[in-house]
Amino acid sequence: MANKITGINGPITGWLDGHTYLIGLMAYPIRHSMSPTMHNNAFAKLGLNYTYLCFEIGNDKLEKAVDAIRTLDMRGSNVSMPNKKEVIKYLDKLSPASEMCDAVNTIVNDNGVLTGYTTDGIGFVQALKDEGISIKGKVMTMTGAGGAATPIAVQSALDGAKEIRIFNIKDDKWAQAEKNVRTIQEKTDCKVSLTELSDQDAFKNSIAESDIYCDATSIGMKPLEDKTLVSDPSWFHKDMVVFDTVYSPRTTKLMKVAQEAGVEHVYDGIGMMIDQGAASFKLWTGKDMPTDYIREIMF
Ligand code: NAD
Repeated sequence: MANKITGINGPITGWLDGHTYLIGLMAYPIRHSMSPTMHNNAFAKLGLNYTYLCFEIGNDKLEKAVDAIRTLDMRGSNVSMPNKKEVIKYLDKLSPASEMCDAVNTIVNDNGVLTGYTTDGIGFVQALKDEGISIKGKVMTMTGAGGAATPIAVQSALDGAKEIRIFNIKDDKWAQAEKNVRTIQEKTDCKVSLTELSDQDAFKNSIAESDIYCDATSIGMKPLEDKTLVSDPSWFHKDMVVFDTVYSPRTTKLMKVAQEAGVEHVYDGIGMMIDQGAASFKLWTGKDMPTDYIREIMF
């Protein structure tokens, strides 16, 4: 059953007519996504004749769904799990970051030629930039090697981070962590290393020597909101940046530990989420998403 629409009080003109560009989101499950609300409100705010819709698509229907982007002359689509890697074989081109991450979250259709991009890493770097912090020349310790961590590491290296020190547990993401190290070494000038998170002395020392600590694991996110990989405030120093990619809850346990340590620059994952959306929005429309407005109405 569809929801009742609110916020439209009169006849719509110039929108949702015969000229509307369609953008999709292909994933399964996906009905919970905030992306349609973000993009459709941004289109409405700027008066752009686009609309963004969710399509519940798993790997089984993906080839036909991607072909439909060409057939229906859609402007593009977002792609999420379980399709981020699987979609690559159906596309014509990849951005350098997408190729390095072996993943796509955004497809752009230029007259039937489909190019895949990954904008999560762009969102991370831009979220720092929004706070006046450049990744260039920085030493970053990070935890994680999954869907969020990989583009964060790759984009940070591409954008001039001096050194990235990755810590991860030896789980099913370890091979991806090793691959991320190899790719960054091959394609960028960034120094990069991988250490097991169980080496807590190395982890502690690395954070002490870093400009930025970024947690891109699922620790701290509901239902693990009472957990953090750093519980001792003395591990942090005041002039560093502590960035948690988690956006629910808004203040994670890790962020509380950093605040207790007196760290001024402590950020949650909302900025990254809005900015990755803004990067996709720009690729489709050529326009800057009104990110302040989106933050105000949604978060
Ligand atoms: P993922 O499953 O792909 O990766 C999870 C990572 O957490 C892996 O590196 C894994 O090894 C690590 N991990 C799991 N259990 C652990 C444990 N007990 N101890 C230490 N490490 C552990 O997940 P993902 O899609 O990369 O999501 C990771 C986080 O990033 C989530 O919290 C998610 O909310 C967040 N995220 C944020 C954004 C954003 O825009 N802000 C976007 C995507 C994901």
